Amino acid sequence: MPRRIFVTTALPYANGSFHIGHIMEYIQADIWVRFQRMQGHEVHFVCADDAHGAPIMLKAQAEGITPQQLVARIAAERPKYLAGFHIGFDNWHSTDSPENTELSQDIYRKLKAAGLIYTKSIEQFYDPVQGMFLADRYIKGDCPKCGAKDQYGDACENCSSVYAPTDLKNPYSTLSGAAPVLKSSEHYFFRLSDPKCVAFLRQWVNEPGRLQSQVANKAREWLEGEGEKALGDWDISRDAPYFGIPIPDAPGKYFYVWLDAPIGYLASFKNYCTRKGIDFEKFLADTDTEQIHFIGKDIIYFHTLFWPATLKFAGYKVPDHVYVHGFINVSGEKMSKSRGTGISPLRYLDVGMNPEWLRYYIAAKLSSNVEDIDFNPEDFMARVNSDLVGKYVNIASRAASFLSKYFNGDLKYAGDTVPLADGARASAFLVRESYESREFGKAIREAMAIADRINQSFDASQPWILAKDPAKHDELQDVCSRALHGFKLLSVLLAPVLPELAERAAKELFGFDRSFLWSDAESLPSKIRPYQHLMTRVDPKQLDALFEIEKEPAKVTASTPHPASPATEAAQPTAAPATISIDDFAKIDLRTARIIKAEHVEGADKLLKLTLDLGTDTRTVFAGIKSAYDPAKLEGRLTVVVANLAPRKMKFGLSQGMVLAASGEGSGLYLLSPDSGAVPGMRVK
Ligand SMILES: [Zn+2]
Repeated sequence: MPRRIFVTTALPYANGSFHIGHIMEYIQADIWVRFQRMQGHEVHFVCADDAHGAPIMLKAQAEGITPQQLVARIAAERPKYLAGFHIGFDNWHSTDSPENTELSQDIYRKLKAAGLIYTKSIEQFYDPVQGMFLADRYIKGDCPKCGAKDQYGDACENCSSVYAPTDLKNPYSTLSGAAPVLKSSEHYFFRLSDPKCVAFLRQWVNEPGRLQSQVANKAREWLEGEGEKALGDWDISRDAPYFGIPIPDAPGKYFYVWLDAPIGYLASFKNYCTRKGIDFEKFLADTDTEQIHFIGKDIIYFHTLFWPATLKFAGYKVPDHVYVHGFINVSGEKMSKSRGTGISPLRYLDVGMNPEWLRYYIAAKLSSNVEDIDFNPEDFMARVNSDLVGKYVNIASRAASFLSKYFNGDLKYAGDTVPLADGARASAFLVRESYESREFGKAIREAMAIADRINQSFDASQPWILAKDPAKHDELQDVCSRALHGFKLLSVLLAPVLPELAERAAKELFGFDRSFLWSDAESLPSKIRPYQHLMTRVDPKQLDALFEIEKEPAKVTASTPHPASPATEAAQPTAAPATISIDDFAKIDLRTARIIKAEHVEGADKLLKLTLDLGTDTRTVFAGIKSAYDPAKLEGRLTVVVANLAPRKMKFGLSQGMVLAASGEGSGLYLLSPDSGAVPGMRVK
């Protein structure tokens, strides 16, 4: 019986580009989806941008564009990443869409009718200048315990004490600098603590096989907590101004993230159904339909408690499984959104690295447990070069040349071929079980063990010696045919991980007019076409290039006198450097940035401290332009920044880049600006 499965990955927040953590999650889900399709199952795989919320609203405001424009800019770059890593979503949508508005409001109305929504007055900090309530991350002040300045509203970075934002001394809004005032407002709550929610969740969480055991344990801990740890109700509203979905019959109130973002799963699927002529309601109402979410370990609470409960009591289908993965670290270091660690997925593609290497490496590291995985460059190179290329791809290149040269590409097996097919069936069965349970590392290990057996048997037969003796050509043909059958078996087994390579093997080598299905694993090929090169090894230079951004500043800027002072070479003909190639120039990542804050630096004669918005992140840069500019006049204007200059620790703090200015022999400094129309983050080249 073919299964009908609806699969999603977590919605990325649309205020920035994908990082390697997103790509890992998409690769994991994509492998599972491709595997299910090869079994003949019907799978629909969707995702969307999480477009709403205050951070996007404020970022758009700072750039002088609408939130919709900001979200559209981010959405426009998504396909480059997804196609680049062979991630085959059927649909990519947005939570800022008519489908999501309709579904969120419908779910809300049904929860309200079920008696699970109530309102309560909440006292919160309010920015009187910005005219909005402030989330904790927009409030800073002096630590109530140790007095350290500029601490966030929830915890002190100096003494590590934890407190409420209202405990801060001299609090200020990071948006306007104004002192926030306490103001009360009516908030809407979802009654997650309601006995009927708890009873349903107990049954849902404890269903055998529903959740990974670590995840079920965590969910039970929250569900059964008592006293201070008891299950709380969930605040689902935010006050205007807010970029989001209006709460019906509640002027000035908007849905907060958890009654908006996950509903984007359904909104994207509905949008897809409309395009494909699928009946959305009927598909979800069908008891045979499976709904599966792949997520990271940071959002377990919402996906195992809040999300199933809201769906259940709004009369929607509840998820069948939530599959949780850990994070990806690089050489043992936690991935961070700030610069300095992590791998840029675009840079990976830009330096010409094969996306299937990364898919293979990630698959080899993944298990069904909630564990972090580590990207280690040496390990990556070893696995790709020795295993993927050395053991698997090489089988085809070695055996196919004999078959083409001596037998016109015809394959012939001596003796009984049934055990050969039986062996393939047994191997395929083992690997299938591993994919099904998301034990991808186990699937890869099993495949590599098969590759080892094929290579050993091939080498033991010494085909290069058989080839020299025409009397032994029958034996040569058998040896090479068996190796090619093994290669085909492996290509089928690895196709979910290596979709492009497997498709090329199917079509170019074995003459299929389609990609492999799982059932192709057993059949013995009878003819091949001449072998064409399938995959290269990793060149260590590529790994150097991948990490270059983090390791060294571009050479051209190394001669500038001070990292924080503006570049002045252009205006000093005497200091003009020798010519450089376009490749040298391309190493400098010049970006348009908006100066969102400019301040004097206590004790510095020449420096101004600039806070820059680069579109995808915010940087602090100390620039030697104090003599020429009044900080107040700089705020809001655009300039050009060297974005990949190595961060430099200075007396006054960390400088994360360099702004460009013109200067000559005489006095005067002139900050560069792009022409009107440029926005932060644009590359200057
Ligand atoms: Zn403190």
